[in-house]
Amino acid sequence: MLSKYKKHFTVILVLLIFIIMVSPGNQAGAYVSSPKNIRIGLYYASGSKDTTLEMVTMSAVGGIEIGTNQYGNYTKLIETPYIVNAIVDGGVSGYHIRIGEATADATKIYADLNEYLSQGLEVFPICLENNLWQIWEGCYLSKDDAERAISSKIIPKAGAGNYTVAFPSTDRIIIKYSNGLAAVASESGVSFLMIKSTYSGDPKTINVNGDRYRTSLELRKFPGSNITVINELTMGDYLDGVVPLEIGTTETPFEALKAQSVAARTYAVANHKHEDLGFDLCNSTCCQVYGGYEVENLATNNAIKATEGMVVTYGGALAQLYYFASSGGATANSENVWSKAVPYLQSVEDPYEITKYWSYSFSADEMTRHMANMGRNIGTVTGIQAVSTSESGRVTELKITGTTGIAIFNRVSTRSAFPTYLPSQVFTVGGDTGYTVKRAGNVLESINISGALVQTASGTSTVSANGPVYVKDGNGNLIALQANSSTSGGFTITGAGSGHGVGMSQRGAMGMASAGFTYEDILKHYFTGVEVEKANFY
Ligand SMILES: [Zn+2]
Repeated sequence: MLSKYKKHFTVILVLLIFIIMVSPGNQAGAYVSSPKNIRIGLYYASGSKDTTLEMVTMSAVGGIEIGTNQYGNYTKLIETPYIVNAIVDGGVSGYHIRIGEATADATKIYADLNEYLSQGLEVFPICLENNLWQIWEGCYLSKDDAERAISSKIIPKAGAGNYTVAFPSTDRIIIKYSNGLAAVASESGVSFLMIKSTYSGDPKTINVNGDRYRTSLELRKFPGSNITVINELTMGDYLDGVVPLEIGTTETPFEALKAQSVAARTYAVANHKHEDLGFDLCNSTCCQVYGGYEVENLATNNAIKATEGMVVTYGGALAQLYYFASSGGATANSENVWSKAVPYLQSVEDPYEITKYWSYSFSADEMTRHMANMGRNIGTVTGIQAVSTSESGRVTELKITGTTGIAIFNRVSTRSAFPTYLPSQVFTVGGDTGYTVKRAGNVLESINISGALVQTASGTSTVSANGPVYVKDGNGNLIALQANSSTSGGFTITGAGSGHGVGMSQRGAMGMASAGFTYEDILKHYFTGVEVEKANFY
């Protein structure tokens, strides 16, 4: 008896240990969810941007399956090993012959379709609105051509019946084989064409106008633009086409790739900018640049797999993460770049970053032209001054003085005040009375000594804003520094880093990874007070 109880006890103990082991490590963490799939706009019209396609050429190794998605219900239409072209059916060859009534019975449509095909008619199924189906025939150049075909071809083959001519419509997408025969069509509005690969192996990719994308596509036609192409795939497959474009993969340390993967996943789960167009995110810098299967590589695919489901949260909710190439010594407070202060987007030192410095020179003429181009009518530019600079070295107010006025630039817009858009907001202006000094932690800072009192051999003296100022370098040589209004030589802008500076520095993340930090260490360094935890898939 005793041994039996002991056995039960052991089983219970083992179960308890197992339960403890599989429990999430972070009990205090928030419950956040991530969708399994994501929808990405490849070609779309949004704002002033319109990349929608007049013709979408598609094919896949092993063939493609075409179906429709209406009110979330998928109906398979055809399977073909051939290349197909989707076009807007509003122009040439946009006349067709309707055969019989529209019906909700898709099975009947297929039975009839096969019969008409065996009679030698060029029929195809069309998905109409309200989940109705109909059989149409041919593609004709005019109403007359279609009417002639009814009497010369349809009636002799299929007998008398209900035949009417359908006119071209820019609301209709038709998919044709390369020989011009129609395969399927769909009226826009509520029915969308879906394209899937029928390949039995891996990867299942579909070639779209020369580029390959995983899993499936949806084609939609919105009024006023051509065909919108959406790629629907798993979150992991999506990230495989994103992360390589955001961080170098050659010799990038694995923990940095993992940190970038988690940042990209967090962004994708937290944002749905384009729901009005039927997709979550677009494939451009407006959201995250996505290159599909073409840009994938093994190192980033492995990093994404190794961090599957991991996201960054703050206060129990998904964090809005930002990242950029290089901080120039320290990251920025979000309010010093944009306008809103975010508790986890605050300046931190970036000690492991290998900073790149840069410099640009602009003549007074170039600056004058640039101000005029920007609509800032301040006459001839005579001076540029960094009025205030944040603790991380970012110019937060820039004053450009002209003969007839001044122009003020704040925060991130200071980068656009020059004929070349500056790589970062960490810069100083030569040719004024500001000096660049390096603070601890490699942070560049601009200080203004105009009007300052300095100790000289003959007592105190005031530094003039107009006269030359000299400093002694390490070898005891006097070096003249240009004062504010001496603009004959133009302006030299010297800076460090690249990008907006808010959030994670990618160069810094690489440095941290090389120094032995984990991806969690890296994320928690750049995002103050966040948690890194696993999202639940739904
Ligand atoms: Zn976007």
